[in-house]
Amino acid sequence: MTSIRLTQEIPLRGSYDVVVCGGGVAGVGAALSARRAGKRVLLLEKSLFLGGLATLGLINFFVPMCNGRGRQIVTGLAEELLRLSIRYGYDTLPAEWASGEPGPGAKTRYVTRFSANIFALTLMEQLLDEGVELLLDTVVSSPLMEGGRCRGLVVENKTGRGFYEAGMVVDATGDADVLARAGVPTVLGQNFFTYTAAGITLDSCRRAAESGRIQDALVNFSGGKATLYGQNQPVDEKLYTGVTAEEVSQYVTRNQRLLLQTLKAQDRESREVVALPGMAQLRTTRRIAGDYALTTADQYRHFEDSVGAICDFDNRDFLYEVPLRTLCMDGFDNLLTAGRSAAATGYAWDVLRVIPPAILTGQAAGTAAAQALDENKPVSRLNVGRLQASLAAQGVLVHFPDELVPAKEAPQGERFDTGHI
Ligand SMILES: Cc1cc2nc3c(=O)[nH]c(=O)nc-3n(C[C@H](O)[C@H](O)[C@H](O)COP(=O)(O)OP(=O)(O)OC[C@H]3O[C@@H](n4cnc5c(N)ncnc54)[C@H](O)[C@@H]3O)c2cc1C
Repeated sequence: MTSIRLTQEIPLRGSYDVVVCGGGVAGVGAALSARRAGKRVLLLEKSLFLGGLATLGLINFFVPMCNGRGRQIVTGLAEELLRLSIRYGYDTLPAEWASGEPGPGAKTRYVTRFSANIFALTLMEQLLDEGVELLLDTVVSSPLMEGGRCRGLVVENKTGRGFYEAGMVVDATGDADVLARAGVPTVLGQNFFTYTAAGITLDSCRRAAESGRIQDALVNFSGGKATLYGQNQPVDEKLYTGVTAEEVSQYVTRNQRLLLQTLKAQDRESREVVALPGMAQLRTTRRIAGDYALTTADQYRHFEDSVGAICDFDNRDFLYEVPLRTLCMDGFDNLLTAGRSAAATGYAWDVLRVIPPAILTGQAAGTAAAQALDENKPVSRLNVGRLQASLAAQGVLVHFPDELVPAKEAPQGERFDTGHI
């Protein structure tokens, strides 16, 4: 037997203007934006709290939202969520950026660490207070397609199998799982071997007690230590795509064994592992092909359909604009993606997938979804000027200012590393 055929009546459990699949930072951005545009929004999340890799995955660090010369580039909801992430928990925000742009001469970049768990709690409160409906512990299993339109989504949860009708669908699963199953062309990535858990040691606790800063108590414990550039990649370890259950399980368990091996060699009274990552720390798994895929050759390029400006996190100056076409594909009228499954290649994918741009593309996808319903148009045929005006009114910097582009003869892309993980 190579397959089975299953025919089943599935109950209709609800009908929404916009259904967002996945409650990582991109999904939260999409849900909030569609809701603020007056839509009935359902957010479906397979885990028990919001934030995805940024919280559950223990990647609790906003990479730089500035150009490395004191000017903020990523704005709008990304700014709002950065401030929310540190409202009730610790931060590592440089003093220069505490109350806005420091301008030329800035010695630091606009970054912060935050408490993963407290951020997850505040995201939940924000969504519910604004009227987004939320189902946790709910896995989106498949979209129901009728030609190029998605009628809705089949989900699995405690209640059983159910169907939610959707006017628009945003796939923010991080892996483009839903859009791939809808037939949207996708591209696979490859991942180095990385696993970081959160812990405390007697020494770190002493340091925190002396400094009075709770974040000094936290340390990282590692399995794989590979960086996004492949440094520290074990020679005998393969690259992982991370889009099959077997690969994800192998990636996680091999990393967990490595971590356990390190822990076994330590004094068991001297440290504690406070949290293991609840998601596989895979950076780039699957993204949509997109009507346009951003590349590093697009540095300093303006796009007519830009939905926001972003910056390079490791290098000064480099700026990009994100075209709406990276979030959708012609022929799939009511489907969008956001976050780390937006279309980009090589290092441009890295620049686009990190937390601030993921929130930005979430905001763009939620706003575009609402507008597509209002205009009764396929998302790839939206009135882009209207979308940009709406994003600008929400505080998004749609186009980077030309004055921030360095002169051709000036040194460019100087490394300005911020120690992200
Ligand atoms: C090792 C590593 C280090 C990184 N370092 C940094 C850093 O220092 N700073 C930075 O800014 N970024 C960093 N990043 C990148 C950043 O964390 C992510 O790219 C970003 O958080 C992605 O957000 P997202 O919302 O697109 O996706 P995700 O965070 O992956 O969220 C997807 C959500 O969808 C849910 N989901 C998935 N499938 C389903 C389904 N079928 N049904 C329902 N729910 C589903 C998941 O549970 C999850 O909550 C790092 C990433 C990795 C892996």
